[in-house]
Amino acid sequence: MSLRAYDPNARGLRKFVLLVIFAITLPSMMLTGFGLIAIQNERHATLKRVKDLYTPITGKLEQKVQGYFVQLLEKSSQSLDHLAAWATREVSFCEDRLEGLKYQGSWIATNFFVMHAHEGVLLPRMGHADPTWYGFLPESFDRALKMEFLDNHPAGAVEIHQSLLRNTSGASPLRCMVLNALGRCLSKTNNKKEAKEILDVLIDDCADFVDASGYNLALGALLRRIQLENPKATEQMLALGLKLSQYLSKPNIQASFDQIQLVIEESRKVLESTDRKALASVFHWLESLSARRDILNHLRGRIQDVQASVTTKVFRINGVRRLFLVKKIVDHQEVELLAGCELIPAGLDKMVADLLEHMEVEGVVGHLRPSELEFDQAELVAGVAFLKNTDFAWRLDVDLVDNEALERLSGSRITMYVWILVLLILALALGIGKTVHFMIRETRLSKLKTDFVSSVSHELRTPLTSIRMFTETLLLGRVESREEMRECLETIGHETERLSRLVERILDFSRMEAGRKAFRFQPERLDEIVRTAVAACRPMIEKDSFAVSTIFDDRLSHVWVDRDAMVEVVVNLLSNAIKYSTDRREVEIKTQQNEQWIVLSVRDQGIGIPKTEQKKIFEKFHRVDTPLSSAVSGSGLGLSLVDYIVRAHQGEVKVISTPGSGSTFMVCLPHRHDDADSKHGEEA
Ligand code: ADP
Repeated sequence: MSLRAYDPNARGLRKFVLLVIFAITLPSMMLTGFGLIAIQNERHATLKRVKDLYTPITGKLEQKVQGYFVQLLEKSSQSLDHLAAWATREVSFCEDRLEGLKYQGSWIATNFFVMHAHEGVLLPRMGHADPTWYGFLPESFDRALKMEFLDNHPAGAVEIHQSLLRNTSGASPLRCMVLNALGRCLSKTNNKKEAKEILDVLIDDCADFVDASGYNLALGALLRRIQLENPKATEQMLALGLKLSQYLSKPNIQASFDQIQLVIEESRKVLESTDRKALASVFHWLESLSARRDILNHLRGRIQDVQASVTTKVFRINGVRRLFLVKKIVDHQEVELLAGCELIPAGLDKMVADLLEHMEVEGVVGHLRPSELEFDQAELVAGVAFLKNTDFAWRLDVDLVDNEALERLSGSRITMYVWILVLLILALALGIGKTVHFMIRETRLSKLKTDFVSSVSHELRTPLTSIRMFTETLLLGRVESREEMRECLETIGHETERLSRLVERILDFSRMEAGRKAFRFQPERLDEIVRTAVAACRPMIEKDSFAVSTIFDDRLSHVWVDRDAMVEVVVNLLSNAIKYSTDRREVEIKTQQNEQWIVLSVRDQGIGIPKTEQKKIFEKFHRVDTPLSSAVSGSGLGLSLVDYIVRAHQGEVKVISTPGSGSTFMVCLPHRHDDADSKHGEEA
């Protein structure tokens, strides 16, 4: 609905509405802007508070970490001596003597190497692994292999291996071979759960078992185990990844260079589809392991650069800065050796965690990382320290344990700001909506009132004019016969009646407006009410030659209504039916009943009412604004009175209408009015 249609001063009104909207929207937008800035500031302030809180803790932690590195240098010296002696086959391997390069039983280093001044790389061993067992396998094992590979029937092989397993005990070589074959067959039959269990047993029980072809069973099982795991099971993946990294880091690993390389590549492929952030340490570890060949190439011929005491050295290999512990050792034949290993920052996370626990700091986790590594945007860094007093090209990051901690810290206040903002904006929007709605309604009402005054004046003037005209005729003695005099007096009488009906309607309306209209409900016959109304409209009916038919439902007995009010309802509907009909001058009044209502309907074949207007015609002063309707004079009060009266009877008025075909107004009254009556009485 356009404002222009209702307001003669539409332009002025539009300007005013725009001004109101502008006056409300501008401050609300500014408020939103300030709110967002406040939220940002709050986040920064909280981050700063967190940093202020953790800076001293980070400083203290850094000192402790540096203290650990001093000890590490001392302890690792002997470990590297042992490594060199073992590589030159002076002593046999003793893992305990490498404790200096471990933290709580786990390697903190990898890529162990020993270089000989003349012979080159002694460690890692580049060739094949020596088999640990050459024994014979039982005939049934061969049968299972045949079934698995030739008959392509791994399920059958599973059964044979399972029965073999029942007959073997302890960590015998045969048991390792069977476990390996069973794990493989189970994964082929897609029996993941059992396959995983068998592989776990194999990894633990047959850690150093190398079969006759030089294949390390445990290493192969570790890879298969990772491949079988659900990539989304982050915790299990992390545990498996770290287990594999530790296994691959063993200086005396019993596996061929090729098998190691293959396992690293394949497991990295699987890890691609995991939560990379949670498995960052495994990625770092495997990345270092996969650079083994490049590292060895880089270190070849660097013996001269290294001192006799253990030191840390940073080498840039393929663009990556790597930190090594190195030591020059002279063997029993007076030949120089270079022994060392690459230190892995992730290997020391446990040490940092223990220090934090010792310091009784909670809610954060510490990580040692290569210092050039970029800060992870997703991680909330509470403190950073670069290890200045050592050669370690690492930095110490202290991160909040869960990324939402900061949000939570600043969250309560931010939530409050957001809510205030939302409420303010809602209130403003509601204000704008209500103001505009109110203004449109007022404008419309003022237009309707103006129309009402002019149409009522018109309605008053018409009968008054004829009364005056006929009175003058009588006074001037222009009437010649008694017959003519009678006609004049009759017309004056009709017009006076019409006038008083109009005045009565206006008075009724004003009573209704003031809530002073009283109803007296009693049992009445609906057909009698209709007859009274038709009789009241008789002059109109006859004047325009209308045919009014009535159909009454015989079953209807008494209805609880206010007689006069109900007659007024029917008169209004009937006179509208007459007023708004053109050629087809037929009106039908009908009473009937259904389960819910007693229905009185007035049907005409007049001009009809457009769909969009059918609700509005019951509003006070509203008149349909079409040429056909406007041609008929009226006040726009009739239907609002009808609606008011019917609702006072706890009923409702409905209209069905098609423009050009006619309208049917239906007054629906409830069956029993006893309760309503007493209720109304109470209200009154
Ligand atoms: P009015 O005094 O103008 O007749 P009402 O409240 O009785 O006032 O009716 C409101 C408007 O509804 C009318 O102006 C007319 O446009 C429309 N209307 C009412 N009854 C009919 C009908 N039977 N057929 C067509 N239009 C109707």
